[in-house]
Amino acid sequence: MRVILLGAPGAGKGTIAKLLTQVDGSVQISTGDILRGAVQAGTELGKQAEAFMKAGDLVPDALIMGIMETRLQEPDCAKGFLLDGFPRTIPQAEALKTLLNKLGIQLDVVANIEVPREEILNRLTTRRTCVNPQCQAIYNVRSQPPKVEGVCDKCGNPIVQRDDETAEAISHRLDTYNQKTAPLIDFYRQEGMLLTVDSPSSEGIINAILERVNG
Ligand code: AMP
Repeated sequence: MRVILLGAPGAGKGTIAKLLTQVDGSVQISTGDILRGAVQAGTELGKQAEAFMKAGDLVPDALIMGIMETRLQEPDCAKGFLLDGFPRTIPQAEALKTLLNKLGIQLDVVANIEVPREEILNRLTTRRTCVNPQCQAIYNVRSQPPKVEGVCDKCGNPIVQRDDETAEAISHRLDTYNQKTAPLIDFYRQEGMLLTVDSPSSEGIINAILERVNG
């Protein structure tokens, strides 16, 4: 399947993407994961992105499109992809449209996951992420703690609060979302691609998406 997952930070895009990969082998592509991996590896991309990320600002569109143009042409995307955290601005959405046309790829749906702001704030302040760039597993100190406090169940590395998940950075990321990313909802509505999902359970969201994808 070829799906874009839209939604505020903390809406659950990553969780839903991971569950959907198990359905048909489509790959999850998270620009946030790619960028965090680059920052930790100290690559040129990581150096260019780091300050923006730490402040809760968006990384420039040109950098993101450079990453995605390459990534979408890698062989594992042939089975399908779940875009998680991309596109995030109207220029990115326009550039993606041009790129997909060039590659002859048709999207199935753009799923907008709606979650109340209170719940988003609650989730983000209690979220913890594995520091291992190859893992980046996500926990929640309240609802989904690791077996051993502060240690990743999957790979044994430390789990930490992300630099951009302090109260200040979170509030800035949500403002950025409202200003730059929320307009994509109308963009994809006009394209006839939008599906709004607001089920409180992951299962409800997955079922709504699969129903649309499988027509
Ligand atoms: P995320 O894990 O998706 O919340 O992304 C973490 C951070 O990476 C964001 O706050 C941005 O600084 C940056 N980022 C991720 N995806 C994008 C994108 N598509 N466009 C611009 N910046 C991005």
